[in-house]
Amino acid sequence: MRFLFRLSFLFCFSAAVLLGQSPDAPLPFQLKLIGPNIWAAIDDAKGDAGANAGFVVGDDGVAVIDTFENEAAAKALLGQIHSFTHLPIKFVINTHYHLDHVAGNRAFAKHGAVIVGHHSVRAWIHTENLKFFGEKIKPEEKAMVQNLLAPEVTYDTGVTLFLGTRRIEVTYMQGHTGGDSVVSIPDTGIVFCGDLFWRHTLPNLIDATTSTWISTLSEFTEEKADTLPNSALPRAVIFVPGHGDVGNAEDVQEFQAYLAWLRAAVKKGVDANKKGDALVAAVMPELTNFSRIFRARIFWMRARNWKAPSAFQSLRKSEALCWSLSVPAAPRITVHF
Ligand SMILES: [Zn+2]
Repeated sequence: MRFLFRLSFLFCFSAAVLLGQSPDAPLPFQLKLIGPNIWAAIDDAKGDAGANAGFVVGDDGVAVIDTFENEAAAKALLGQIHSFTHLPIKFVINTHYHLDHVAGNRAFAKHGAVIVGHHSVRAWIHTENLKFFGEKIKPEEKAMVQNLLAPEVTYDTGVTLFLGTRRIEVTYMQGHTGGDSVVSIPDTGIVFCGDLFWRHTLPNLIDATTSTWISTLSEFTEEKADTLPNSALPRAVIFVPGHGDVGNAEDVQEFQAYLAWLRAAVKKGVDANKKGDALVAAVMPELTNFSRIFRARIFWMRARNWKAPSAFQSLRKSEALCWSLSVPAAPRITVHF
């Protein structure tokens, strides 16, 4: 378990969690206008924001989707929103509890935003996030996790939010943590997927149940394309991932294929009664061959000045081990329900 904790910290979060940022520093994300008054904030190549976020401007207010890995990035997003509109930020929606999506909640709440999330986000934000720092967690890291602002409004299956006439649908879906939500703006065909979609980068599987995750991704591409009656883009649905650049249905299918491939690769080892290091050793060569996504991941690691070979090794081990731990029908984290 300690091994998992250490690895998850290595490949989930950057060392920038607790660092501040000077006001004139470059933005830690790239803002992209992806629809009418809808922006995606895509983490920069160094991972300074830790994850993606976004915001939607309606008639009478703004809704923000996720709040990055650190308060500096959240404040930078706040500044950008204020430069676009004087409307109040009414809602922040947390797609899941992971630290890199919720660390800036408090910065938005100070400006009057109500934090909205699945009940599991509230249940896990102060407990499950501790594991990413390992057993040698420092007091300031523990304090930071304990100080995270939990959602003040929670739901079980979803919630509809309104910004005047603009409707935002928040829908609970399974796969990445057992408590994820997607945020769609139905009149535009845009879906913010949180960490249920990773584009050209490898996913964090520490809490995952890949079998249900694969089914969820089918719903993204099959259902959304056909059930947007008011969509100006009935077939060109835009998917904002939790990590990586904005994608389309093909990108989602590519990611789904990766998860399916990973399951098949690990299953082969499991069927041959391999466990632990032997399972990892069996899966690693095949994982290396999944070259396109891996190249993107290695580039990302180098940009963060990681020692690529050791980080690469850790990544591959954690992929296999995390999956093998989530094989049972009841995923590890779902026992909290
Ligand atoms: Zn996550």
